[in-house]
Amino acid sequence: MRDCRLVSRKFDIKDSFKIDVAKENGAYKTLPKAYALKPLEIVEIIKESNLRGKGGGGASAGDKWALMPQESDKPSFLAINCDESEPGTFKDRQIISKDPHLLIEGILITCHAIKSKHAYIYIRGEYKQYQTILQTAIDEAYSDGLLDNCDITIHRGAGAYICGEKSALLESMEGKRGHPRLKPKQKEPEWFFDNPTLVNNVETIASVPFIVQNGADAYREFGTEQSPGTLLFAMSGHVQNPGVYEAEFGTSMMEYINHFGGGVKNGKKLKAVIPGGVSCGVLTADECENLTLDYEALRSVGSSLGTGGMILMDEDTDMVEALKNILEFYHEESCGQCTPCREGTGWSDKIVAKILAKKGTKADIDKLLDLADVMNGKTICVFAPSVSKVLVDFIAKFRDEFEAML
Ligand code: SF4
Repeated sequence: MRDCRLVSRKFDIKDSFKIDVAKENGAYKTLPKAYALKPLEIVEIIKESNLRGKGGGGASAGDKWALMPQESDKPSFLAINCDESEPGTFKDRQIISKDPHLLIEGILITCHAIKSKHAYIYIRGEYKQYQTILQTAIDEAYSDGLLDNCDITIHRGAGAYICGEKSALLESMEGKRGHPRLKPKQKEPEWFFDNPTLVNNVETIASVPFIVQNGADAYREFGTEQSPGTLLFAMSGHVQNPGVYEAEFGTSMMEYINHFGGGVKNGKKLKAVIPGGVSCGVLTADECENLTLDYEALRSVGSSLGTGGMILMDEDTDMVEALKNILEFYHEESCGQCTPCREGTGWSDKIVAKILAKKGTKADIDKLLDLADVMNGKTICVFAPSVSKVLVDFIAKFRDEFEAML
């Protein structure tokens, strides 16, 4: 497997989070080249590279950047989503703790490309220690004069999904912190919708310096035609060496698990993999056998690549218990605005608990599928449809385990 550490190149360097060490190892060397380019030229390079959003959606970053107006009376903003929260997803914190200056460099280039003077980083509430590292790096960059023309502000406690982003913006205006949810019927300030704002994930922005420095073709040398480049794939669960390892898109899933992860823990057999955070459809070991790690391959088996955070489950895993664990997360994270989501996540959690307690009936399994139907396509955001898919996939692929508990 070839070395393709485009984003994680400095991860193994001692103290690489400090500006002097980072600079000794190439940090900020892309800035002079980027500033010599016109904003639209940078947008064009990103489009040509076909960099895809690494926060889960996989949309073309360049196409998103191109939507930002280059001539506008209103100020533009860059919002960085660092609210990784799904079980199995823990890659962005690696960038923040090991190479925060790469992210800052990416922010500066992106702000130049979209003519923005202010970037906001929304970091999840539980990431206090990572916020401290990131803030120290930002302070170092200010002292070094790197942020003379562009401010970076961190907000902690962004909350879940887009409703969380809204509430974080509101909190920032009101000077409050740590309120993770938007209250129903709370009115957003007018400027919230009025000013052009680009939202990108941490890893997407951290990929920008390599592309601008080396060109779109250099990035496209890695990965596949439709999914070029690399991703910080992560492994957790029943794997020998859990962690985050950068690999190019199109890598064989099993090769990746064996090469970086050392295979399934204690030499056991693989039963299932959730490929990209718990919202991505669960796969059986058979489905993983010839699968490659790219957006198209995962879609072809009815799942998705998500954030690339794989959760491995060995042959002894109780899949009903695994589902219960996931549903607890969804129940807690639902912001409660939509009735199907608020009630559906709670009820499905309770029903699976009943099945686990061996008090369930066949009708309860059908009720879970009914709830999945109610949650699908009837809510403000994609959170509830994700829960729906998880329920349907677990029951479709491991129904025998649910029935064995009745
Ligand atoms: Fe909130 Fe509705 Fe999204 Fe659920 S689906 S998280 S209730 S906005």
